[in-house]
Amino acid sequence: MPAGSPGDLPERVDVAVVGAGFTGLSAARTLAKRGAKVAVLETHTIGWGASSRNGGMVLSGMKLGVETLAGRYGMDATKRMYAASLASIDLVEQIVTEENINCNFSRCGHLAVACKQSHFDTYARSVEVIARECNHRLRIVPKNQLRGEIGSDIYYGGIVDEVSAGLNPERYVAGLGHAALNAGACVFENARVERIGHASRNGGSGFQLVTSRGDVFANDVFIATSGYTSGTTPELRKKIIPIGSFIIATERLSETLARELSPRNRMIYDSKHYLYYYRLTPDNRMLFGGRAAFFPETGSTIRRSAEILQRGMISVYPQMRDVKVEYAWGGTLDFCFDTMPHAGRMDGIYYAVGYAGHGVAMATYLGAKIADQVSGGAEENPYANVPFPGAPLGLYNGRPWFLPFAGAYYKVLDWIS
Ligand SMILES: Cc1cc2nc3c(=O)[nH]c(=O)nc-3n(C[C@H](O)[C@H](O)[C@H](O)COP(=O)(O)OP(=O)(O)OC[C@H]3O[C@@H](n4cnc5c(N)ncnc54)[C@H](O)[C@@H]3O)c2cc1C
Repeated sequence: MPAGSPGDLPERVDVAVVGAGFTGLSAARTLAKRGAKVAVLETHTIGWGASSRNGGMVLSGMKLGVETLAGRYGMDATKRMYAASLASIDLVEQIVTEENINCNFSRCGHLAVACKQSHFDTYARSVEVIARECNHRLRIVPKNQLRGEIGSDIYYGGIVDEVSAGLNPERYVAGLGHAALNAGACVFENARVERIGHASRNGGSGFQLVTSRGDVFANDVFIATSGYTSGTTPELRKKIIPIGSFIIATERLSETLARELSPRNRMIYDSKHYLYYYRLTPDNRMLFGGRAAFFPETGSTIRRSAEILQRGMISVYPQMRDVKVEYAWGGTLDFCFDTMPHAGRMDGIYYAVGYAGHGVAMATYLGAKIADQVSGGAEENPYANVPFPGAPLGLYNGRPWFLPFAGAYYKVLDWIS
């Protein structure tokens, strides 16, 4: 990771960005390139949050399928959102190239695998809709051809999208950090934002931010805190459910075993709510992740999840029974109550959140889109008009007391649907 900016916080900036992950750093890079004076304020260090801990899958589409999206928002809006998901992958590729980020970015494609026949039937329908309405071709892989894509017999078929990519997320977020700093942004680490209030200076209105490293006045504020959103922004916190996601990585596998498990080196995920997502790393480890415990990462949720994930990995790949797990870690994802990304403005403060496990590309993209908006650009943000719901009946103050119930609910849903 690059070192953060030295010295004291400036008295005044054009834009204060809260959070130094993909969202915040992508925004800071864009803003600084346009000449804005930007301070990124980060409680911990650059990339400390989900951005350095994820599976590195740079995926097309969104968490919700196109049919669900079309039912909710209409086909025109759905087409714009789907197009944005493809544009977000292009943007990651463009940044990696322009900024010369050595993060193993590769358009290796993704494979979604169906855990039930009914899930495969849904896949077949959405491939048709995406081809017809979004002009994007995915490939259906029937069960009898799956062995060309994955060394497992437990699935009912799959979909391949060749456009999706994989990268090393820690190296990517480090590269974004360098890019933001090189463009002229300051990134202040160990600078937790504790309060944000409306304020005015020299006749201009803006915001006063109180941080653990001093105060700063900003004309605009952009919240990029994702699953780590806290009481500093209470209204936003009430709309975000922080959910733990966990990953194990095995010892290095032989070339033969690695090719058997994933002959085309795809980014793979299954069709369950309690899903597994997995891939090979460039040094031939199996990186196997899932929402094994719904609660955010602690020593004990990571240990428990590692055991669950190892059992899950063996259920997918019995040939890995004797393979050692060498690493386990966790991070916190941000889900909104409608499972949608949201990017816009609340009480004058900009935000982009709600990536629901699709944040590598979308956080990069929405960070840049909001930066466009802050700097007066007219580019369209396809999520600008998506209504942003809070908890049903308002029964949520930001502490997710219902996670055990939600976890149980989704387990049942995985059995019956
Ligand atoms: C285990 C795991 C696997 C995942 N796998 C994938 C994947 O394969 N593909 C994919 O697309 N997505 C994946 N995701 C999701 C993706 O990582 C996130 O959506 C993305 O990283 C969000 O980036 P961000 O910059 O918005 O937030 P983060 O990277 O979480 O950064 C938020 C930052 O805000 C800081 N912060 C919070 N509050 C304050 C404050 N008050 N003051 C200052 N700083 C503050 C935090 O310290 C943190 O560093 C995964 C997530 C996890 C946890």
